[in-house]
Amino acid sequence: MQRSLNGNFSSTATARVAPSSEPLSDKYGNFDLIKHINLDSTDISVSKWKSRETGLSVVHLDYEAPLVNGYFVIATEIFNDSGCPHTLEHLVFMGSEKYPYKGIIDHLANRGFSNGTNAWTDNDHTAYTASTAGDQGFLQLLPIYLDHILYPTMTKASFITEVHHVNGEGENSGVVYSEMQGRENTPGDLMALRSQRTLYPPGSAYRSETGGLMEALRKLSVEQIRDYHGTYYVPHNLSLVVAGKMSNGTQSLLKVVQEQVEPIIVAHNQNKGSRPKGWQRPFTETASARRGPIEKITKETIEFPEQDESVGELLVTYTGPSPTAFLERKALDILSTYLTSSPVAPLNKEYVEIESPLCSYIYLSEDTRATLVDLPIYVGSVPTEHLDNFDEKLVASFGRIAKEGIDMTRMSMVLNRDERQLRSKLESSKGDTFSGSIITDFLYGAEDGSDLGPSLNELQYYAELRQWSEKQWVDLLKRYFVDPPYIVVIGKPSSKLAEKLEAEEKARLAKQRESLGPSGIAKAKEELEAAKLEHEKPIPTDILKSFPVPDVKSISWIPVQSVQQRGKGRNQLDSTGASELASHIEMDGSPLPFFIEYDHVKSNFVGVHATFSLANLPDRLRPYISTYLSAFFSLPVVRKSGERLSHEQVINKLDDETVSYEASLGISDQIPETLHIFLQVEASAYESAISWLRDLMYGAEFDKERLLVTVAKLLQSLPELKRDGNTVLASVWSENLYDKNSTSRASAPLPQAEFIPQLVEALNERPEEVIADFKSIRKHLTDPSGVRIGVTGDILSLPSPRSTWAKYFRDLLPEAELAPVRMTSETLSEMGKKPCGQATVVSLASIESTYANHTTGSIQGFNDPEYPALRIALEVLNAAESFLWRSIRGSGLAYGAYMSPDRESGLLTFNLYRSSNSMQAYEEAYTVVKGLTDGSIELDETSLDAAKSSIVYDVAKNVASPNRAALNSFLNQALKGVSKNFNQELLEKYQTVTKADVLVALKKYVLPVFDPSSSTVVAVTAPSKVDQIVESLTARGFKVEKRTLEVEDGSEDGSESSSSGSSSESA
Ligand SMILES: [Zn+2]
Repeated sequence: MQRSLNGNFSSTATARVAPSSEPLSDKYGNFDLIKHINLDSTDISVSKWKSRETGLSVVHLDYEAPLVNGYFVIATEIFNDSGCPHTLEHLVFMGSEKYPYKGIIDHLANRGFSNGTNAWTDNDHTAYTASTAGDQGFLQLLPIYLDHILYPTMTKASFITEVHHVNGEGENSGVVYSEMQGRENTPGDLMALRSQRTLYPPGSAYRSETGGLMEALRKLSVEQIRDYHGTYYVPHNLSLVVAGKMSNGTQSLLKVVQEQVEPIIVAHNQNKGSRPKGWQRPFTETASARRGPIEKITKETIEFPEQDESVGELLVTYTGPSPTAFLERKALDILSTYLTSSPVAPLNKEYVEIESPLCSYIYLSEDTRATLVDLPIYVGSVPTEHLDNFDEKLVASFGRIAKEGIDMTRMSMVLNRDERQLRSKLESSKGDTFSGSIITDFLYGAEDGSDLGPSLNELQYYAELRQWSEKQWVDLLKRYFVDPPYIVVIGKPSSKLAEKLEAEEKARLAKQRESLGPSGIAKAKEELEAAKLEHEKPIPTDILKSFPVPDVKSISWIPVQSVQQRGKGRNQLDSTGASELASHIEMDGSPLPFFIEYDHVKSNFVGVHATFSLANLPDRLRPYISTYLSAFFSLPVVRKSGERLSHEQVINKLDDETVSYEASLGISDQIPETLHIFLQVEASAYESAISWLRDLMYGAEFDKERLLVTVAKLLQSLPELKRDGNTVLASVWSENLYDKNSTSRASAPLPQAEFIPQLVEALNERPEEVIADFKSIRKHLTDPSGVRIGVTGDILSLPSPRSTWAKYFRDLLPEAELAPVRMTSETLSEMGKKPCGQATVVSLASIESTYANHTTGSIQGFNDPEYPALRIALEVLNAAESFLWRSIRGSGLAYGAYMSPDRESGLLTFNLYRSSNSMQAYEEAYTVVKGLTDGSIELDETSLDAAKSSIVYDVAKNVASPNRAALNSFLNQALKGVSKNFNQELLEKYQTVTKADVLVALKKYVLPVFDPSSSTVVAVTAPSKVDQIVESLTARGFKVEKRTLEVEDGSEDGSESSSSGSSSESA
């Protein structure tokens, strides 16, 4: 989501630090070099600079990559729930002193090969981000972005639309208000807030809801936000973290800051050095730093609104070490992986991998805080009857594990695997891997840069931790989780609370309307209209055009060499252009009887992929696939050698020998009617990956007990999924638009909520039948006509790229005709094939806003000559600050509004995410599209340029790491049947799309989504909004069906029938 609150920055990943060798001048203009570090065994160097004049910090992570990523970070401390940090984050994008136009920053970002800007607000900082393909656009954007951050206009009009207002119906609205309305009563937010209030003493900023509580937002004024900005948005409290390659090195970055940013700061008299008089560094030098460890065990309970009262959640928090105790923090990270990372990890074994799970997950995390870090533990889907004493059980488990000792073989495996994964991440994300650590260092590290090296030292910590004795690990566990007190917040579902909240909100609104009176409401409406009008002030075209569009040729793509062999006896595909790879493969053994594609990139790793067609699977077996996928890597296996491995051995060995593994429907959510198995290993473990693929696919034993454990876990996670508006929308939508032969439809949460309890029953009563079904699934999947193998990664370094496959698969995959890949277009329902006039409105008690899909038929297939024009047309609508954004998000009607084409199914969907008024948003979108097509709204050349440029970024991002480049090559050629560089080739076609082409595409493909005779609707909404939406849709000409997601009163047994069904009625 754009500008989301609380982005995750989980990474504390780092690498060994070598002494600086590069001769780098330690001064540039006003900037002094604070620290320079070359990260050993990588091509990444880090330099931290600070301006003597203004105190502004710049950190450059320098390495080769197609993308440049910027994080502009402010330490945002606040001592109340007004939401100033978050509301200000939104206002920054509404125009600046030099560029007083709403959204100009995104228009310029789009022109500069970016997909717009973004930002998040966490508990202790706000980060503004921009990512561009190549450095030219980035450097052009930087001074303009900083003008917005340091000198935003913060007008009353912006506050009204973007933060909060009362609309013509007397309701509260606004972008931030709606966003927080969607969050405030979710279990996650309710529990986090209660936890904060319990953990931190009065006076600490860590107690605050930085997003803003609704009640506080209703009282907030723009003056308060301006004051807040004046205090915290100052150059000495701002750090510019830039990750990626500058064509002229770090100097090109410093040059822009020195010549284009510093003078403006000086002109504002903000050149007061890094420590102006009276300045207290947020968090570390204020009351927030005054905190000790948790003193006593405290239990708190909150209720959250939820119809299904079968499961709740838990948040347990312990006190951790100092934020600069890097080795100990890494040790805790490893310990938590040891405890919870796989089905055989001690806590999972005890709580999750059992027939009646006590929770669906336990996740140990870390929150960096001043003085001491926190160690929160998240526990999901706990049966309600176990909520109250779960924490005591957990503490007892920690004690027992400490007493029984640590399995040092597994610990060593965990360390090795964690390091392999970090190295793999370093290869794909490079220096960006460290941006989280750099932000943390800015907030909490020593100002002289002395903590920066140790914080990036992670690879060295692996070596140190390998030396740890069992006693050291046990002591760590005791010190942080066994002996000390903790705080637990229990989240209980309450169906009454949902009703109560609804009633309270109705009463509040009635009171608000009454006290405003008709004249007050009319005045509020007037204010809102005036504010909207003010935002419509057009951006002068010459400002936009003064920002040059970079050259596409300036982007350096990662080269992929590719060879596809469709199998002996089948037509071979030409492999020219990859002669080095082709001859390397030809030298190794004879051609294989099955389909295989090799995609070589420079890498330290190899990926082994297999896709299996689901086309011929009998429909009655499709609902099993989610269970099959979940169990795939944790069943007992008989290996090719005849050796039988228990499920625990399988998990441990897999973890020991791979970097990662995955089983999914399709690849990156595409081609979901194939089952995709993927194993990533170090190049030296190539054969091991192939043998695992064979053994897992053909040698798995469908063990009753393991299957019961898998379905129990799935069953338990369903209520949580069914609370989420967007998930429910996707599920109902696919039920409506897809047919019984669609595996993704059968795997969606609502059908699964009906199927899984039946499967549990069948497994208990007639296990042999279920096992026979799973065997039948395997038989269908492994039909040679539907199997496609892929190898990605460093293939040229493999001595036996082809013959290894023969060794394991020659007999299993004999010669056979190759069947075409099944596309989702072949699995559409009647309504999916021809959307017309049907609408479904779903009432969901756990949400307060609306999630909606409006769908129509569109271009099907990947090679349609009209597609480039449609793609540009949709980008024109979707781009940040473009038409849909302005008309819907800008007026607070929804948090997101996007048109997306699906070339595989041939459907085009207009999606509304977290909408306060979905029908009005729909009308606004219609007005825009209609206006563009009839000429009443002008489509200007700059919007067209921006759309074309922002697609460049999307394409570059998709192939920005060696792994992704190789995987895309496989996806394109082996599954979609298009060329290797299909998307890069399309870039050239996009450049030739004209305004006339776009208007034709809008009329032909987009307008029908607003016509009831050619579209279908699914809306998931709060119970209080159902009638209003049904009414509007009916008035529009839709035939509307109402659905309510209800809870059945099941038996008391939490493992069995606490699921819910759904009922339908016609309206
Ligand atoms: Zn927000």
